[in-house]
Parts: sequence; structure tokens; C-alpha cells
Amino acid sequence: MSKNRALYEQVILDHNKSPRNYGVMDDPDLHADGYNALCGDQFTVYLKMDGDVIEDMRFDGSGCAISKSSASVMTTLLKGKTKDEAQALFAQFKDMITSEVDSPLDEEALGKLKVFGGVREYPVRIKCATLAWHTLASALEGDDEAVSTE
Ligand code: ZN
Repeated sequence: MSKNRALYEQVILDHNKSPRNYGVMDDPDLHADGYNALCGDQFTVYLKMDGDVIEDMRFDGSGCAISKSSASVMTTLLKGKTKDEAQALFAQFKDMITSEVDSPLDEEALGKLKVFGGVREYPVRIKCATLAWHTLASALEGDDEAVSTE
């Protein structure tokens, strides 16, 4: 097992077991629902905004280990970031996770997100890993329609 692969499993197991910022937020400024029909993952993302800055963020719902840990890691990365920074990080994450399995990871840009590089080996899981991010993007756009990965 490669080093990245071991790290990937460790982080995903940890965040799945003890998700960070998990639970309903009272009185959020923005929120959106996301659903991945392929796997049954279903999450709501809540945001408290200070102008363009994400002041606080929570998520709620249920899903597989990859979707839940990805949502959890996302919430740990984005507090204090602006909308634009959050969307830029999502774009980088999406590029990474849809890249060839063997292509090198930009570890500096991705930071903690690099552990999800292991998901590239399981294409069916890509929607699990990106669901929370799609839901976040929808919330930031103030879109009330539920997000579906289909
Ligand atoms: Zn899933």
C-alpha cells in the first residue's frame, strides 16, 4: 500500500467517525441541499457569512464514508475564506479528482484535500467526494434548488 493510500484511508476513516462541524446550524445566512442518487448520499450545507467571508460553516445529513469525510474536511478548510477562495479551491479539487490516477498532485495547492487523490482509483466515488462541494457552491450562489449530481 502506498503512503498516500494509507493516509487517504486514515483521514477518511477519522472524519467519517468523528465528522467536524456536523449538525444543523440555527439561522444560517445561506444553505443548500445536495443529493447523490448514485450512492444515496444526502447533505445540507449551512453557512454564516460576514460579507463575502465564510464566518462559520456546518453540514448535516448522511452518506457513505467518502461523502461524509469530504464534507467534514471541507468545513475545516473554508472557515475564514472568501467566496472566491472557496470556489477556487473547489475548482482545484474537481480538477485533481478527475485527473488521471497517476498524474502528480499539486500538494501545496491542495493541502489536506490531497488525501482524496485516492478516490481517483474509484471513479464511481467521485460524485461522493464532490457532493458537499457542489452543495456549497449552490449555497454560495444563493440557489435554493436542491443539487443533484445526476
Ligand atoms: Zn457515496
